[in-house]
Amino acid sequence: MSKQEDIFKNVISHAKEYGFIFPSSEIYDGLSAVYDYGQNGAELKKNIREYWWKAMVQMHENIVGLDAAILMHPTTWKASGHVDAFNDPLIDNKDSKKRYRADVLIEDYCEKLNQKAQKEIDKAKERFGDAFDEAQFVATNGRVVEYKARQKEILQRMASGLDSGNLEDVKALIEELGIADPETGSKNWTEVRQFNLMFGTKLGASAENAMDLYLRPETAQGIFVNFLNVQKSGRMKVPFGIAQTGKAFRNEIVARQFIFRMREFEQMEMQFFVRPGEEMKYYEYWKETRLNWHLSLGLGKENYRFHDHEKLAHYANAAADIEFNFPFGFKELEGIHSRTDFDLKAHEQFSGRKLQYFDPELNENYVPYVVETSVGLDRMFLAIFSKSLKEETLEDGSTRTVLALPSVLAPTKAAVLPLVKKDGLPDVAHKIVEELRWDFNVTYDEKDAVGRRYRRQDALGTPFCITVDHQTLEDDTVTIRHRDSMQQDRVAISELRNIINDEVSMRTWLLKTAK
Ligand code: ATP
Repeated sequence: MSKQEDIFKNVISHAKEYGFIFPSSEIYDGLSAVYDYGQNGAELKKNIREYWWKAMVQMHENIVGLDAAILMHPTTWKASGHVDAFNDPLIDNKDSKKRYRADVLIEDYCEKLNQKAQKEIDKAKERFGDAFDEAQFVATNGRVVEYKARQKEILQRMASGLDSGNLEDVKALIEELGIADPETGSKNWTEVRQFNLMFGTKLGASAENAMDLYLRPETAQGIFVNFLNVQKSGRMKVPFGIAQTGKAFRNEIVARQFIFRMREFEQMEMQFFVRPGEEMKYYEYWKETRLNWHLSLGLGKENYRFHDHEKLAHYANAAADIEFNFPFGFKELEGIHSRTDFDLKAHEQFSGRKLQYFDPELNENYVPYVVETSVGLDRMFLAIFSKSLKEETLEDGSTRTVLALPSVLAPTKAAVLPLVKKDGLPDVAHKIVEELRWDFNVTYDEKDAVGRRYRRQDALGTPFCITVDHQTLEDDTVTIRHRDSMQQDRVAISELRNIINDEVSMRTWLLKTAK
């Protein structure tokens, strides 16, 4: 097993053992690509959602929130293009009977070319040291130029095959590149077929009158159909944004990567409505702003990269992904799309209602253009959780498992621990819990030796342990232990609230984006 696979397995088992993520309906052997968040996972997920909401809604004068229903009028999905075009190209391997996404097989091939180019760059970097000019090397080195050109050519050919419905050519491309089943090595492929990802359901009691509905495959359409409601009732002026978090459903063809690709998942989306012609300015603004938000969490700049789309969705005139270095490599975490006026215009056509804005400065009506930012909450969870999980070797040679979560997101901010279960120490500890609970999620723990309790809190990602000992009874001080440095300081009980707040507040962390 590769080191990467080991790390990923470890992430999955840690998430289960410590109450973060369980397989759905596990007593019935689970449901494929559906997961439940346990007591700590629910807290971490809620905190990520809140961190996003504060940054997007609370901190932006011109962005407001929305909570639209999952079920929508079925014509919504005709207008949006999902009924006709929300397809993934699937291909089966005849020998292994395994199913794959044809586009993913080709993209993975291209990623290998990318890695080869990166190897050349890394080698040159080592050879030339400080004098190395990476941009020049990438532009002039024969091999790197060739790898990049080849990659571009392949992706363009795939895009044109998918766009024009020429699926024979997509299959031909897979064969020409010699792409084999990643699990078995077989190259015996079926034809490529399109598969619609929407889940259907029915509204109504009797079979004759029932109306066919879809579970929404994205939250964005709830924003578009409410565009005028929000604009009018909120007296919003373009440019402005509407943000929403909520469940989305996709009948994914291949879902083998834990919570990276689920059939029921949560999105955090924001649609920003702008004057036609100004969309590229805001597209660049949101690319930068969203990357900075990710960087504020301190997981390491090197773990993020932009990927500009060659194949644009039917609604977009520019699109980029923010990719993250997951345990299985760089993959999409967030999409930033310039969606033009496609959606609002389509809803105008299908509904017969005007969805326009009167711009008082220009003295004219228009259908606004839209720039969208769309990030998966579960993918954020996986990104943060997997990068935070560490095995550390300490100075005395022993090891510890620590979940070094950004403390603003940690499920529990502090654990209060009486050194022993007697002499009145538990009473004092309970009192501290009662006081801190008004501001933070805190917990009390008296089971096992204090060293083992520290280790357990480390594995849960709790940033602080507060220990009550005999000296506390004399002078109202406690020790406060920091998760990452393991340093312990003696402080007054009255100082605890401020110490914790300085470290875990949204203000502290979001201000890092401003730097
Ligand atoms: P992919 O190419 O990985 O299928 P996508 O391009 O279809 O993703 P979008 O439609 O742009 O994804 O959705 C926006 C975001 O929603 C993605 O960046 C991702 O974080 C999240 N997302 C999409 N599909 C899933 C899924 N099946 N499970 C979990 N998160 C998802």
